[in-house]
Amino acid sequence: MADKYDVIIVGAGPAGATAALYAHRAGLRVCLVDKARFPRDKICGDALSGKVVSILHELGLLDQVARLPGAAIREVVFGSPDHMDARVDLRGYDHRDRATGKILPMEGFVIRRAVLDHFLFVQARKVVDACYEGFAVKDLMREREQVVGVRGVVDGVEREIGAQVVLGCDGFNSMVARKAGLYAHESAHWVVAIRRYYENVAGVSDQIELHFVDEVLPGYFWIFPLENGSANVGIGMRHDVLKKRNVDLKAALNAVINRPPYAHRFKDARPLEDPVGWNLPVGSTRRKSYGHGLLLLGDAAGLIDPFTGEGIGNALYSARFAVETVKEALATDDFSAAFLKQYEDRLWDAIGDELGTSTRMQKLGQWRPLLNFTIHKAAHNDKVRDLICGMMANAVPKKQLTNPLFYLKLLFS
Ligand SMILES: Cc1cc2nc3c(=O)[nH]c(=O)nc-3n(C[C@H](O)[C@H](O)[C@H](O)COP(=O)(O)OP(=O)(O)OC[C@H]3O[C@@H](n4cnc5c(N)ncnc54)[C@H](O)[C@@H]3O)c2cc1C
Repeated sequence: MADKYDVIIVGAGPAGATAALYAHRAGLRVCLVDKARFPRDKICGDALSGKVVSILHELGLLDQVARLPGAAIREVVFGSPDHMDARVDLRGYDHRDRATGKILPMEGFVIRRAVLDHFLFVQARKVVDACYEGFAVKDLMREREQVVGVRGVVDGVEREIGAQVVLGCDGFNSMVARKAGLYAHESAHWVVAIRRYYENVAGVSDQIELHFVDEVLPGYFWIFPLENGSANVGIGMRHDVLKKRNVDLKAALNAVINRPPYAHRFKDARPLEDPVGWNLPVGSTRRKSYGHGLLLLGDAAGLIDPFTGEGIGNALYSARFAVETVKEALATDDFSAAFLKQYEDRLWDAIGDELGTSTRMQKLGQWRPLLNFTIHKAAHNDKVRDLICGMMANAVPKKQLTNPLFYLKLLFS
């Protein structure tokens, strides 16, 4: 006979660990499983911005996360295709969080995922009712159309775990989504990126740098600082554009760091690993993320920002909204898809506008002259920088960036 929990969480990355922490707070009986054993790596840019800070703050974990090895971020640099840099100093701004309603400083962090995810996993493991590492979910258990648990393998032994609701937090290749018939690989809504850790890259301090380079437009090349002078360096672009242009990301990264204006910064740099790649299912389309007795969160639901590539913030948001809905489902004893749909509606009410705007910005990013124009203006004009930072801080609707009037305003500013 299978164990039975209120909720089984498949995947203990940021979405799953955070869901476990919220579920514990909500008084639910929780089982958390992951096919990996922690600490484990996750290929990522490792940058944590406003939303992540807000959720960590709400969970009472921000101070501890701030003390983990990594770098605090006080500035964002946007580099144009013709190599003008606009610098946005985050210290003068606050972030108004859509989920928690809290107003917090804009500064963020860069923390290796091997470190961050392990920290979150350990916090979650302390409070859940059961936790299994090395547990690979292979299938969903069903009673008629209702999902009632998962079937997986741990230490070579098949095992079943029952739950009222299954939360699929198992990343871009989600087994839960596949088994629920909710998985789709759409090239236009998929970004591919590679990461390479380096040490001794020149000019790295407390700024994250996003350079819109010709090699991968509308994607970008990034340099994010880490502890002790090391850095997370990478490059990414939309999968359909990559296929069309036949771009080899490793060759593109190599070309960028060996040409002006970046070559001098990499002259004495030493790579700490071979480049490693991963997929980013982006939220330029709304994927169905609920079923009878199940919800999909984070990358399993395809919630990554299509312009910036940030996914951790929305993964944490999805955890908050998912647990809120599961708690209500338990109170009303209704685990139907129709009831659980509320999760997706609430989540998209919170992030849908922003994802829509980022989708349009990703499309505009293909216009090299427009990117040059906007970044040049921001580089030379305090008011424009204020406007962009205001948008990032949710103080001014970000929608303005895709509004033609915004560019008219820029012309005269
Ligand atoms: C190159 C790159 C750069 C990025 N840069 C950033 C950035 O700087 N900032 C940012 O916010 N986002 C960034 N992202 C996106 C971010 O990495 C993801 O959005 C984030 O990891 C999503 O978290 P998650 O918990 O949904 O999934 P994941 O972090 O992928 O975690 C999924 C977990 O599920 C487990 N799992 C998978 N299958 C199973 C199974 N069958 N059974 C049990 N367990 C399973 C895995 O072991 C894993 O621990 C980047 C992504 C890439 C690829």
